[in-house]
Amino acid sequence: MKILFLSDLFTYYKESLCNELLKIGVKNFELTTEPNNLKNDVRFIIYSPTQKKGKKVKRDFSSYNNLKAVLSLYAGIEDIVGNETLKCPLIKMIDNDGLTNSMIEWCLAHTLRLHLDIDRHILGQDGLWRQKIKPPIAKERTVGILGLGTLGKPVAVFLKKIGFKVFGWSRTKKKIEHIKCLHGPEGLKYVLRVSEILILLLPLTHETRFILNDESLKLLPKNSSIINAGRGELIKDNALIKKLRSGHIKNATLDVFQQEPLSKKHPYWILPNVTVTPHIAADTPVESSAKVIANNIKNLIEGKLPNGMVDLKRGY
Ligand code: NAP
Repeated sequence: MKILFLSDLFTYYKESLCNELLKIGVKNFELTTEPNNLKNDVRFIIYSPTQKKGKKVKRDFSSYNNLKAVLSLYAGIEDIVGNETLKCPLIKMIDNDGLTNSMIEWCLAHTLRLHLDIDRHILGQDGLWRQKIKPPIAKERTVGILGLGTLGKPVAVFLKKIGFKVFGWSRTKKKIEHIKCLHGPEGLKYVLRVSEILILLLPLTHETRFILNDESLKLLPKNSSIINAGRGELIKDNALIKKLRSGHIKNATLDVFQQEPLSKKHPYWILPNVTVTPHIAADTPVESSAKVIANNIKNLIEGKLPNGMVDLKRGY
């Protein structure tokens, strides 16, 4: 059985993945990076998006006739989900020990930073004793989270634990203790209207592309902040830039962009109320994610459901 590694990350994963597969009793496999060699022997493809000359490489899966599944090293699968040559199950990365914890930490850190206005003191060391400006407490602050999935839900739960008033929005109806969960178009409007800090943890699909645009951004309260850890195309950049310039949006903390790396000339680098981070909110650590991939391969071989099955029609 061949496991084809269609990703630039092979050197990092090779040893860990082999060890994890052997540890859980998967034997007689060959891990390869050679896409054209004995295609009929390939049972699994491990995938991450690749760029050539700044353009995303589109893979052709059609000639792997015995392919059981494609396993993504990333949680975001918008680059592959619409690939019409993909005829087998697609499994996205769900890595609670690594990726999810990183995302919780990153979102928590930036929410607290914005909530407490920590930048004012870090960037304003000018000799003035501004003791009159007192930081608020979390229970006085409303945070909205768009996306209550593998990443959004635990972020919401942690923010609630600290004391924030948390509103969440998802496609389907949800019940999460102490969190006001909404869904549907009216639910979105409600969450936007109340969110002083809005966190984006949605996947990029036809339905979510440019969900923050001229119209929807207007609904956010004046002086609200946005944290985007989902995907760049969830936001219409021009609309956000207008709102940042007018001061309606106080701050945007952006980890993901329509074009990555973000162009040196992009206004986001220059706007004083934008924080750019280079798609580092939640890395996929090799050790934990190799375990996830190995277990999913084992489950698939044994005819069990893997963790992270993508609904190809829904797009996530
Ligand atoms: P997930 O488990 O699939 O959850 C997605 C959530 O979004 C679900 O709650 C889903 O609603 C909701 N949703 C999807 N389409 C919607 C729609 N049209 N309207 C309302 N809600 C909708 O995904 P995840 O693992 O949490 O990851 C979310 C995204 O984070 C990824 O797709 C990726 O783009 C991004 N990400 C970023 C980084 C980074 O470093 N910045 C790292 C990892 C992932 P239901 O629950 O009702 O289905």
